[in-house]
Amino acid sequence: MSLLPVYGHESTLARLGSAAVSGRLPQALLLSGPPGTGKQRLALWLGQALLCQQPARGPCGRCEDCRLAGNLTHPDLHWFVPIARPKAGDAAKQAEEARDLIGEVLAERRSTGRWSRPDATNGHWLASVRLLQRIAALTPYRGRRKVLVLGDAERLVVQEANLEAANALLKVLEEPPADTTVILTAGEPGALLPTIRSRVVPIRIGRVPDDVVRRFATEALDPAPSGAALEKAVVAADGRIGRLVDVEGRTDLASRARGVLEAAAAGPARWAETALRQPPWGARGDFAGMLDAMTVELRQGLVAAAGEHDADRLRRTLSALERVEAVRETLGTNVNPQLALAVLARDLERVA
Ligand SMILES: [Zn+2]
Repeated sequence: MSLLPVYGHESTLARLGSAAVSGRLPQALLLSGPPGTGKQRLALWLGQALLCQQPARGPCGRCEDCRLAGNLTHPDLHWFVPIARPKAGDAAKQAEEARDLIGEVLAERRSTGRWSRPDATNGHWLASVRLLQRIAALTPYRGRRKVLVLGDAERLVVQEANLEAANALLKVLEEPPADTTVILTAGEPGALLPTIRSRVVPIRIGRVPDDVVRRFATEALDPAPSGAALEKAVVAADGRIGRLVDVEGRTDLASRARGVLEAAAAGPARWAETALRQPPWGARGDFAGMLDAMTVELRQGLVAAAGEHDADRLRRTLSALERVEAVRETLGTNVNPQLALAVLARDLERVA
């Protein structure tokens, strides 16, 4: 599935597109602006323009390079997304693990053409930056350029290993190979280390007008909201299309969470079937999101049970909450989400 087109930002596209086509685009850029304004989508569009065979103020959209970039399969367009912390012992294995985890997230984004905010525990670890460094040094696969996009760059985790991750990234930004463009995106540039900020050309990405948000909601959301619901969504988005997608993602997680809780209460046959029917947990962040959604559901249950003075339900809901939170805590380690869900459902059945 292709990525959804860029909505709005016409003057930015015109300016960056013509710079890319005429070879005047700086090699290290930082797109910054409020969350949900489409910075990563713009970075990918820019990557497509840089790789396009016949660009004209932007990607032509028809050549082989455009097609590959548009469905996230271009071998010279590398998108680094926040991931769970790699657990492997040595550095080489960690970089491999980071590559696999990033691959899982991208496979999911490829299948839907959209994405939500990554789980709060995900980051760009030293392993990811080492991988980026290695790719920057490689010859482009299709012979022209490489584009490296580092999304949510403020998730660069620099506490560990004496700023090693930041230093590795700095090296790439300082002297990118001539055939390489690096595009960082960040919600707040202030969250980046000053040393990184000083090596990139900043580009501010702002909100889009309400009529662009409305057009996106009508064309890209399924089901598309209409009438009062549409207007409410437009107001809530506040010029940020990503917010609409985020709400959609959260709603989806909440309904999946309810499904698991109901299935657990209905006995082994139901929860086993539900666990098997779950879509693959491509990104582990997704699984963490669903556990969080289960926590929210259970807390609401607690409030209701307390209101009804139902001591038995209160006790059962508390036990369930404890079990969900125990699984949530193991997520930093190499847990298999499907297996964890099956075990959790069995435990929840016992307390139901
Ligand atoms: Zn093209």
